[in-house]
Amino acid sequence: MKKSLYFYIEPYVYIRGCESGIILINLLDDKAFTFKDIQSIKIGLSLLSSPKRTVKIAEEDLQTPIIIVTNKNFMGDIVSASSQPLQFYSEINEVSGIEAYRKSVIYSKYNIGRFISNCTIFVDMANQDCRDYIKCITGVESIPDNSICRVLSKMDKNDIDLYINKLVDINPNMTLNICGINCHLLDYISEKYPAVTINPILSLRTLKSSPELCDFIRQNKTKYTLLLDLPCDKSDIFIKDMIHSIYVKITNEEDIYDANNLSEIGCQIKSCPVLTSDNIDFIKSLLSISNDDLLNIDNKYRTIKINNLINSNFWGKIYVFPKGKVCYSLASDYIIELNQLYDTYKGDFLNGTFDWTITRNFSNCRFCMFQYLCPSPNHIETYLRMKGLIKCLMTKD
Ligand code: SF4
Repeated sequence: MKKSLYFYIEPYVYIRGCESGIILINLLDDKAFTFKDIQSIKIGLSLLSSPKRTVKIAEEDLQTPIIIVTNKNFMGDIVSASSQPLQFYSEINEVSGIEAYRKSVIYSKYNIGRFISNCTIFVDMANQDCRDYIKCITGVESIPDNSICRVLSKMDKNDIDLYINKLVDINPNMTLNICGINCHLLDYISEKYPAVTINPILSLRTLKSSPELCDFIRQNKTKYTLLLDLPCDKSDIFIKDMIHSIYVKITNEEDIYDANNLSEIGCQIKSCPVLTSDNIDFIKSLLSISNDDLLNIDNKYRTIKINNLINSNFWGKIYVFPKGKVCYSLASDYIIELNQLYDTYKGDFLNGTFDWTITRNFSNCRFCMFQYLCPSPNHIETYLRMKGLIKCLMTKD
C-alpha cells in the first residue's frame, strides 16, 4: 500500500494560530516559536483542524520552517504511514474558554465560598475616598456609569454588622477592605471582629483631616492601605510609617518617577494607571506589550492555562455597596442582593459566565495566536476598546 508523510506535534507542545501566524510552545522547556510564512501557516492550521491531530504533507514541505523547527527542537516529527495516524489528545490544545473552565470547576465544587478572598465594602459613597479608590481600581477618571457606583448612600452600624456576618459566613478568611470609614466605625469593627482581616482604605487627605483617626491607627498599629496623590512630600510622617501599602494614581511620566522614588525608600507601592481626558497615548504605552514580552513569559503553560480559564484581574474579588448591593467588578451592571449572594455566586461560579471569567475574547483577539499569552483584560483596556481607541495591545513592535 502506498505510504504518505504525516506531520505531528508532541502532546506537550501548545499550538495556536490564525491566518496571520502560528505559535508553537514547547511546554517542557518554555521555548516558543512563531511562523508567519504561508506554508507554515497552512500546515499549522490543517493540524489544528485535524480530528486526528496529524496532517498529511508533501515531500517539499519538509523544508517548511514549521517542520524544520519542530524536528530540530524535538517538538514533533514526520511519520510515513499508509493511513492517517492518530496523535494523543492534548488537553491544552483541545479545550478552551468556557468549556475548559467548566471542566476544571468540577474539581472545585465543594467549599466554593473560599474563592471569594477579597471584598471591598464602600461604607459611605459620598466620601471622596470611595470615589478615589474606585478610580484606582477601574483606572478611569470618570466614575462608572452603572447605577451602583453613582448612588450616594451610606451604611450604618447595623448594616455593617449584617454585611460582615454574611460575608464571614461565606468565607471566614476573606480580607475585608473598608473604604469611606470614620474613626468611630473603624474602632467598632476592629473591636467586634478581631478574627477578621480588616484593611481600612484611607486617603492622606482623610488622615490629615482626622487626628482622631490617625491616633487610633498609630495606637493600634492598624495596617491600612493609603491612597496617595502624587507628587507628595517624602518626609511626610504617614509615608515614613511604612506600615501600609500605598496606592498611587499614575497619569503621566512624572507620576512614574515619583512612584519609583517612593519604592526606593521602601514603600510598598501599587501603581494604578488612570485614564484622564488628555493622557490616552500615555496609558496606551503603559498597556503596550511586544512580541518579545510575550515570547519571554516564564512558565507559559501556567499563563496559558490561567488566561484560558479566568480573568486574573477580577478573580476572587467582590464589592459591597450601601443597601446591600454587591458586584463582581466595578464597571459591571450585574448587581446581586447581599441576601442572595451565596446562592447567586454559587450559580455564577459553576456556570462560569460572570466577570471573574472574562477572558481575552475580543473579536480580533479570538483569532490571534497570542490570545492566551496576552494578559487578562482589565477595566482600562475594556473601556478603551468600548470607545474604539485601541484594537491590540501589541503596539511596541
Ligand atoms: S491584544 Fe489581542 S490581538 Fe493583540 S496580540 Fe494580544 S491577543 Fe493578539
